[in-house]
Amino acid sequence: MEPRIVPRKEHRISRKQMSPNALRTLYRLHSRGFIAYLVGGCVRDLLLGRQPKDFDIGTNATPGQIKRLFRNCRLIGRRFRLAHLRFQDEIVEVSTFRRAAVPSDNADIEDEDQNKRRPYHVKDENGMVLIDNIFGTPEEDALRRDFTINALAYNIADASVIDYSTGLSDLRQRLIRSIGDPRVRFTEDPVRMLRAVRFAASHGFEIENDAWENICELSSTISRVSPSRLYEEIQKLFLLGSAGPAFILLDKSGLLAALFPGLAAWIREDDRRFQLLADNLECLDQLYRRGTPSSPAFFLSALFGPGIEEDAFKRHRDGIPHRQAMDEMCANFMKEISGTAHIPGKVGGRLCAILTLQSSLHRMPPRKPASIAGRPEFMDALAYLRMAAQAKNEYRTPLEWWETYLLETPPAGSTDLPTDEAPEKKRKRRRRKPRRARKTENP
Ligand code: ATP
Ligand code: MG
Repeated sequence: MEPRIVPRKEHRISRKQMSPNALRTLYRLHSRGFIAYLVGGCVRDLLLGRQPKDFDIGTNATPGQIKRLFRNCRLIGRRFRLAHLRFQDEIVEVSTFRRAAVPSDNADIEDEDQNKRRPYHVKDENGMVLIDNIFGTPEEDALRRDFTINALAYNIADASVIDYSTGLSDLRQRLIRSIGDPRVRFTEDPVRMLRAVRFAASHGFEIENDAWENICELSSTISRVSPSRLYEEIQKLFLLGSAGPAFILLDKSGLLAALFPGLAAWIREDDRRFQLLADNLECLDQLYRRGTPSSPAFFLSALFGPGIEEDAFKRHRDGIPHRQAMDEMCANFMKEISGTAHIPGKVGGRLCAILTLQSSLHRMPPRKPASIAGRPEFMDALAYLRMAAQAKNEYRTPLEWWETYLLETPPAGSTDLPTDEAPEKKRKRRRRKPRRARKTENP
C-alpha cells in the first residue's frame, strides 16, 4: 500500500510542541544523511494536541552508527536493541527501523551490526514472539507496531506526516484498530490487549469491534506474559490518570479475571464491591489530575486493600492478633499475585504497612500521633483513610482529626508553613522523605 503523506501545511504538528532534545537528535541524524522520523505514540499525541509522554525516534542508522554519532548514547535492550540518548531530564529513544516476524526468518545475518548480536525472530509454540529484531524499512517498522494510531511517523526532512496504514482516519474516528489480524497480533504479544485497554481509557477512544471481540476471546492468554512485564503494564494502566475507565474495560473484556482471579471472585460475591473499587480508582485518577500521582503501593492498596482488610478482619475475629492477621493476609496476597505480576518485595511491604497503620489511624484519640505521622507510609495510609471515608462514608472523625493534626504540624518542607514561625516549632517539624513519582519505562 502506498503511504499517505500529509504535507506540513495540512497537519497540526508544530516543532514547538516537540522536546528540544528530540528535535536536535532528529536534525543531527538527518544532517548525517540518515532517515529520521518521530515515531509511535508521540506522533499520535501531537496530532491530538496532547503532550506526549516521551519522544521516540526511528532511523535507518544502525545501533552502532547511532552510538558513534551521539556521545550520550547507551545501547540497551533485551528484547530489542535500542539506543537511549540521555539528556539532563529526559531520555530520547532512538531505534533502527525493524520489521515484524515472518515464518521464514531465522538468524539471517544482514550487516556488521547485526552480525555481532545474531538477531532473529523466535516465536514460542503458542505463536508468541520471543525475539524480534531484524532491521527493516520505515514501512515495515510502521506495520510491526500494535495499532494504526501508533504507526504514524513525522519526517524531519520535510515536516510531513506519513501514514502507512489507516492511522489518520482512525485517529479522526477515535478508534483503536490492530494493524493486521487482531487475533494474530494479540497472540504474538498478549500485552497488546492491555495496551488497547490503556489507550481506550486514557484517550477516550473506542476499541474497534474485531479487536474487541478478540480481546474478549483471548483474555485468558494474558497469563503467558512474564510477571515482570505485567507489573510494568499494570502500573501504566492504573497510575497514569485513567485507572477508573481502564478497570471497567478490564472487567468487561475478561482481562481482570485473567489477571487477578482472586480479586474477580471477591468482586462477584457482592454487588457493591465492584463500585467500591471503581470509586477507589476514581480517587487515584483525581490525585493524578491534581498533580500528585500515587505510589505503586498506594495503587495496590486501592485495588486490593478492601479484600485483604476483609480477610484479615475475619482472621482477627477468629482470635488472631490484628497485626499478625494483616501480615498473614498480605503475605497470602503477595504469594497469590506472584504468578501474574512481579511486585517488588519493598512495594508489597509498603502495601502491608499502609493497611496495618489503618487501625492506629482509626483509634481516637490516637496513641503517640507524632510517631505515627513520622512513619514512612503515613501519607499513603492517610490517603487510604481518605479514600475509605469517601467511598464508604465512614471514618469521618479520625480523618478530620488527622487532617487538623497535619495542618497544625505540617511535614518538613511543606510550603504551607508561615515563614515567621517560632523557632521551637521549627525544631519540632518531622523529617520525612518526599514521595517520588515513579517513572515507568517502556517494555
Ligand atoms: P505512551 O503515551 O503510553 O508512551 P506509546 O504509544 O508511546 O504510549 P510506548 O510504550 O511508549 O507507547 O511505545 C512506543 C511505540 O512502540 C508505540 O506507539 C507502538 O508503536 C510501539 N509499541 C509499543 N509496544 C508495542 C507492542 N507490544 N507491540 C507492537 N508495538 C508496540
Ligand atoms: Mg511512548
